[in-house]
Amino acid sequence: MFRSGLAVAASVLWAATANAEPLPPPTIRPSPPEVSKTEIKSEIKTTKLADGVYMLESQGGNIGGNIIVATAKDGLIMVDGGRSSMHDKIKAAVAAISHQRVKYLIDTQFHADHTGGNEHFAKDGAVVIAEVHVKNRLAAGTIDGLTGVRTPPAPARVLPAKTFTGSLRVKLDGRVADLTHIASANTDGDTFVWLKTANVLVTGDTFTNGHYPNIDFANGGNIDGLIAAGDTYLKLTDTKSKIVPGHGPVADKAELLDYYTMLEIARDRMETLIQEGKSEDEAVAERPFADLDAKWAETEVASRHFVRVLYRSMSDKAAPTAPLAPPRTAAAASAALSDRAKPRQDTRSRQDARPRQDARPRQDARPRQDARSRQDSKPRQDERPHQDERLRQASRPNQDR
Ligand SMILES: [Zn+2]
Repeated sequence: MFRSGLAVAASVLWAATANAEPLPPPTIRPSPPEVSKTEIKSEIKTTKLADGVYMLESQGGNIGGNIIVATAKDGLIMVDGGRSSMHDKIKAAVAAISHQRVKYLIDTQFHADHTGGNEHFAKDGAVVIAEVHVKNRLAAGTIDGLTGVRTPPAPARVLPAKTFTGSLRVKLDGRVADLTHIASANTDGDTFVWLKTANVLVTGDTFTNGHYPNIDFANGGNIDGLIAAGDTYLKLTDTKSKIVPGHGPVADKAELLDYYTMLEIARDRMETLIQEGKSEDEAVAERPFADLDAKWAETEVASRHFVRVLYRSMSDKAAPTAPLAPPRTAAAASAALSDRAKPRQDTRSRQDARPRQDARPRQDARPRQDARSRQDSKPRQDERPHQDERLRQASRPNQDR
C-alpha cells in the first residue's frame, strides 16, 4: 500500500498512548502522496542469484518490494516492478543487466510497492500479468482494514493486461517462469514465481524475511493461507534454492522454515487469546509475541501492529473490504459476506487433508520448542546483513508489505 503520513501519525499516537491505544476511526481517508524523501534518495542494489537471474533491492531507500529480472534470448521476464516514483532508477538498473526489453512483468500482488511499475513498463511494451484478483482490487480501489487508508480505483493504464487463475507458464527463448496463485495469503491475489532451472523461488509478500507479515485481511489475506504457502514452498525448494521474499534479504530454506514456524506459533497463541474471550486491546496488552519480536519486529509499533492485524483477521473482524465485484442481488451479497467472514474453515480443511508429515519434514524432525530457542540464540546482527534497512523501515508500520 502507499505509505501514509496519516497512518504513521496514527501509529505515533498509538505509541504515545501505550495502554489505551484507541482504534483508528473507521473513516475513509484520502490517499497520501506517493513520493517521500526516503524514496527520492533511494538507490538500488543488484545481486546475481543464478545464471541470468538478478535481484534488485532497496539500498538506503525504498524502491518497493524486491524485484527479479530473468534474462532470455529474446527479452526479459520481470517479477514486480517496484514503486512508480522509483521507476527511472529501476529502469536504469534493468538496463544495466541487459539491453533486452522487459517482455513480461508479473505482479505478485496488488499493493503499490509491487504494481507501481505496471504503467511504465507497459508503456515500453511489456505485457503485465497478474492473478485476476490483482486486477479486480486495483480496478475497484481498496481500504486498509487496520488504518482505514483508502486507495482509489486505479486507471486502466495501471491494470494488468493479462490475468490468470490457478497457474500460468510464461515462456521466452531459454527461460520459463511458472506462476502459481496462493489463495487468501497476504491478499487474495498472491502469486509465487518458480524459476525452476535457476532454482530461484520468488514469493512476493507471502514471505517477508525478517519481518512480521502485514496480512491484508480486509482484502482477502489470511494467516492460514500464508502458512499453506509455506508448506508449498518447503516442498518445492531444496537446500540450494534461492528464495526471494517480498521484502528483506534473499533467503535459504532454513530461513524460510523459521518464518513459517513463527507464523504457526503466532497463530496458535492468537487463537488461544481469542478463545479466552480477550478483546483486541487486551490481546495487545498481553504482548503475546514478545519473545518473537526481537527477530521479527523492528519496533514496538510493528509488534502491536501485527497483534492487531492477526486479532482482526482471526476474529472475523475482517469486514470493511469492498466486494470484488458488486453482487447483483441481496442474497448474493449476503453469501459473499459470509464467504469472506469464514475463510479459515476452507484453508484449515485444506491443510488437514494433507498429512503434515509430508509437508513439513524438517519441522517434524525438530520439536517446536527447539525451533524457538534456536531463534532466540541466534544473534540477529550476524545473521541479517540488512539490518540497516530494517531499522529504517522500523519507523512506520508494515504498510508496504
Ligand atoms: Zn510489499
